[in-house]
Amino acid sequence: MTRRARYANLSAVVIPFVATLIAIVVFWGNGVDAIDLALFVVFYLLTGLGVTLGFHRLLTHKAFDTYRPIHLGFAVLGTMAVEGPVISWVADHRKHHAHTDVEGDPHSPHVGHGGGLKGLWHAHAGWLMHEQGTASPRRYAKDLMDDMGIRWIHDRFLWFIALSLALPAALGFVLHGFTIAGLLTGLLWGGFVRIFFIHHVTWSVNSICHFTGTRRFDLEDKSTNVFWLSLPSFGESWHHNHHAFPRSADHGLARWERALDPSAWTVAAMEKLGLAWNVVRIAPDRQQAKLAA
Ligand SMILES: [Zn+2]
Ligand SMILES: [Zn+2]
Repeated sequence: MTRRARYANLSAVVIPFVATLIAIVVFWGNGVDAIDLALFVVFYLLTGLGVTLGFHRLLTHKAFDTYRPIHLGFAVLGTMAVEGPVISWVADHRKHHAHTDVEGDPHSPHVGHGGGLKGLWHAHAGWLMHEQGTASPRRYAKDLMDDMGIRWIHDRFLWFIALSLALPAALGFVLHGFTIAGLLTGLLWGGFVRIFFIHHVTWSVNSICHFTGTRRFDLEDKSTNVFWLSLPSFGESWHHNHHAFPRSADHGLARWERALDPSAWTVAAMEKLGLAWNVVRIAPDRQQAKLAA
């Protein structure tokens, strides 16, 4: 990993953190107005689903098919979560599946950096300073390298970071009656604070969901299901289920888990509307066959 990439990632961790601290200090006791809260929620939903449905279930695992503009639209929304360019994200994640919790896993809490809290920190954000973006795209994401549209989005990562900040700022400016204060609070809540939360929820799937939680399938790795992260992570914290059946469009497999898997509801809704097809789901007998003894 180059020194430049390391500093870029360090800024991507520190800047949203500092902005969130400022947001807490400045707004403590004053509350947040409805417009800023709405900007936070809308951009959290759009860019969060961009990562979970777009980068993860669609582009990494091909859990369903959709129309080309939607496919590319998800790649753009995922890019706006500021978790790295799309091809690097997918390559790192496929490498995680290829070497889960053993040597070669870019972000396991159990490999290379000691166990316990040190390992947990490595899996959460420490890996961003050492391993992020180092999985070979030729080896792990050749399909995306060959896709001109995806490559175009990948190469314009910085543009989409700018857009991810400029859009909530512009909306804040307009919706608050064309004020500079409105522009700044829109940028803060819809931009930096939202990115802070998206980052830490995504990273918690890498850290907490390989550290503590429940398991039921017969797997060699240490993946877990963590129910309390399921809604904020759009269902991604049914992560042990996901390692058992990586291609499944549903990560919540039991009925009550699926009720807490917003990405699965979204695919189902798209399917009903004719916007998604070839949706991969795992029949109950296949799930049964994989249960731990
Ligand atoms: Zn995992
Ligand atoms: Zn995965």
